[in-house]
Amino acid sequence: MQSCDVLVIGGGIAGASAAHELAADRTVVVLEQESQPGYHATGRSAALFRESYPHPTTRALAAASRDFLERPPAGFGDHPLLSPRGALLIARADRAAMLDDMAAELRTRGLVVEPCDEAAARRLVPVLRAGTVAAALYEPGACDVDVNALHQGYLRGLRARGGRLIADAAAERIERRGGRWRIAVGDEVFSAPILVNAAGAWADAVAALAGVAPLGLMPLRRTAVTFDPPPSIEVSGWPMVLDAGGAFYFKPEGGRLLASPADETPSPPTDAQPDEYDVALAIDRIEAATEITVRRVVSRWAGLRTFAPDRAPVAGFDPGAEGFFWLAGQGGTGVVTAPALARLTAALIAGRSDAALAGPGLNESALGPARLR
Ligand SMILES: Cc1cc2nc3c(=O)[nH]c(=O)nc-3n(C[C@H](O)[C@H](O)[C@H](O)COP(=O)(O)OP(=O)(O)OC[C@H]3O[C@@H](n4cnc5c(N)ncnc54)[C@H](O)[C@@H]3O)c2cc1C
Repeated sequence: MQSCDVLVIGGGIAGASAAHELAADRTVVVLEQESQPGYHATGRSAALFRESYPHPTTRALAAASRDFLERPPAGFGDHPLLSPRGALLIARADRAAMLDDMAAELRTRGLVVEPCDEAAARRLVPVLRAGTVAAALYEPGACDVDVNALHQGYLRGLRARGGRLIADAAAERIERRGGRWRIAVGDEVFSAPILVNAAGAWADAVAALAGVAPLGLMPLRRTAVTFDPPPSIEVSGWPMVLDAGGAFYFKPEGGRLLASPADETPSPPTDAQPDEYDVALAIDRIEAATEITVRRVVSRWAGLRTFAPDRAPVAGFDPGAEGFFWLAGQGGTGVVTAPALARLTAALIAGRSDAALAGPGLNESALGPARLR
């Protein structure tokens, strides 16, 4: 039996970041079922940081994470985690008014956003098809995130603090005995008073293994493709373009363009694969909104974005299961919210219930699982 203070199930960005924070003053072991900890959602994201997300809790978590992403602690990594990108939200006529309301609200929160007309939007992204943009909102502070550097930085920091990530270690049986969680992985048993459930799309399944009631988390599949930009057009300086109606987005990525039809197809927790229909939908929507012709899809993938019923992340102890901490439901923003959620996780586990540690409004009542029960 291997004992420690905290066992974390899941070595994606949620588990890695929380484990790094917790290892500052606790012994921590992370169990990851795959041989590569970023194999699932964490390794499949679009890697954009912005602060204009629709859900106020997500927005607050992203804002509270910005400082860490801009100025990670010494020794965290060699490269900057953020690089300037910008985000351009474009709307057809039926949604143009929505952008005005949004701009007004975002400004009250201190976010810099610039309304654009079609001409200004096309100066930023010249391939936008004339007549398709009735209004646009430009967020200059949006950035690309180096997800791998962030994830690896957390895992390196965890090891430097004496913590361990064990790969190929699927939690198979979980029980509470004598005030401790015991997790069986093959013939090994790990034990700790506190279990952090950071199992992404599998978080409800892990709860079920532990005899804890599920939260109704919904894994939703999202598809992404990359393709070459039109010849002789320099795309590297374009912002990410997002459709305000939620029909697509695209952004430059390593000399190519990455696009998604912004699909949300319910899925069981699984190794998600792209569906040909969604790949075709991505191409169709990009070709309708721009003057681009997609000649060949270079790569395609899908990942699961897992949401709680109210679409806010879940971070907090289960009210009915001692020592069972949920860190799940990060949806489409688990990368950019990880620094604040990890800080909040460490604070709540240390018994500091005050939220000021993560940011204003970020407390157990906004984020804890009790709100869903
Ligand atoms: C196409 C796409 C675009 C996205 N774009 C963005 C973006 O621009 N910005 C952003 O912030 N986010 C984005 N996201 C969302 C982001 O990727 C996720 O919110 C985030 O990666 C979730 O991290 P996680 O650690 O909770 O999940 P995961 O990375 O899935 O990690 C959970 C881990 O738990 C492990 N596990 C499960 N069950 C067990 C078990 N029984 N025992 C041991 N291990 C187990 C799994 O193997 C997995 O590695 C995007 C996602 C997708 C799919």
